[in-house]
Amino acid sequence: MTDLFTTIVSSPVARKVGVPQPTRLRRYEPGMPLCEGPVLVAGGGRFADGVAAWLGGEGVAAVSTLPDEGDKVGAVVLDLSAATDPADLDQLRLLGAPAVKALRRNGRVVVIGTDPATLTDVAEVTTQRALEGAVRSLGKELRGGATANLVLAQGQAHDGVRSAVEFFLSGRSAYVDGQVVRVDESTSGDVDALRPLDGKVAVVTGAARGIGAEIARVLARDGATVVAVDVPAAGDALATVANEVRGTALQLDVTSDDAGSRIVEHATTRHGGLDVVVHNAGITRDKLFVNMDDDRWHSVMEVNLRSVLRMNDAILGEGGLADGGRIVCVASIAGIAGNRGQTNYGASKAGVIGLVTALSRQVADRGITVNAVAPGFIETEMTARIPFATREIGRRMNSLQQGGHPKDVAETIAWFAQPGAAAVTGHVVRVCGQSLLGA
Ligand code: NAD
Repeated sequence: MTDLFTTIVSSPVARKVGVPQPTRLRRYEPGMPLCEGPVLVAGGGRFADGVAAWLGGEGVAAVSTLPDEGDKVGAVVLDLSAATDPADLDQLRLLGAPAVKALRRNGRVVVIGTDPATLTDVAEVTTQRALEGAVRSLGKELRGGATANLVLAQGQAHDGVRSAVEFFLSGRSAYVDGQVVRVDESTSGDVDALRPLDGKVAVVTGAARGIGAEIARVLARDGATVVAVDVPAAGDALATVANEVRGTALQLDVTSDDAGSRIVEHATTRHGGLDVVVHNAGITRDKLFVNMDDDRWHSVMEVNLRSVLRMNDAILGEGGLADGGRIVCVASIAGIAGNRGQTNYGASKAGVIGLVTALSRQVADRGITVNAVAPGFIETEMTARIPFATREIGRRMNSLQQGGHPKDVAETIAWFAQPGAAAVTGHVVRVCGQSLLGA
């Protein structure tokens, strides 16, 4: 999708006079290499050898020292999980700075640390927490489509580290920048890189258009059988999406009392089970707080939040979501940073984040993970309705200096849905190009 700003700044005249060009992001397509090599893997923590080994297994050259002056690297993975004292943070600078100078366009910096929540020593906690500030700041300095993200690992979380590092290195995370992901010691075994969702049944609400339609496409591409859900009024568009992904359509309003049980019934009778639920349906009804009427407040709360709570009750009941299943919610940076005119929407999306935190703990013993994505500015019909000037500001105010695509949100959701992401739960990953809002 090309917006007006991009059309103008990419015009031959603009190029000639030297207007900076937003970098074309390297987005994942099946069959493309994980990332461009070589990848510098350094830092001496407990995960570095494993990372170098599996990168090699995927055909990406891992090197422990930088190539000759002038040669580029595709990514740098710095394992600082063993850093225990602030003095150890020097490693980040000494190893990282020359590597960042040698990064290719769309390069990646991934730092691995130890989750401070699992530590007690004050100096150690201090050191590991400091990584967050460094990585988020680095994300704001990188240019040319490059990103910086942090993986914080518990104990020997080798599978979780692999899944998260792979995601951050790959084109699946093209619009994910400055994020921190915690991984626990859950194991997941080998995953088919091309079709990680083979044999899974996934339900996507609000799938007739926009982000939801793209989530349906990406989950189907990754092997899932998709049930596409939307309101009856969007029936034609819904059928088109369901046919395109060779799934089935289910017309329902997510606010209806029986929405959860109808989803379970449809998935189990038509497809034999339910493994992944993506709560994507959402609406905005903006108005300044002082003028906010009943209808705007209640409709947004019902669609974006209360329906999700109700549907989860049925979905998590007897005969519903399989053990080891996945629930993924779509929040928003408005639920983190707040947004003028959106007290209703901001409340509903912040509520979703609370839901994810609490529910993930309740269902952990069934191996079910519950996570959310928080999109920033994504090019959809929803954002196309924003007035021009506000839209242009929203689109540019992030480290990647452009709006994201629905596919970027869908790729993060598909990663949460993967068996390999069993170690990631209770999380909110922002898909916002490191938006300045809520930073
Ligand atoms: P959209 O308006 O293009 O699509 C939303 C879909 O949800 C529509 O097909 C609509 O018919 C469906 N829907 C609405 N109410 C429903 C109901 N009661 N029952 C069933 N389906 C219903 O919106 P989008 O931009 O694709 O947004 C998708 C999600 O992403 C929403 O939750 C939204 O809040 C969130 N989000 C979007 C952005 C963005 O920049 N576009 C940013 C942050 C968060």
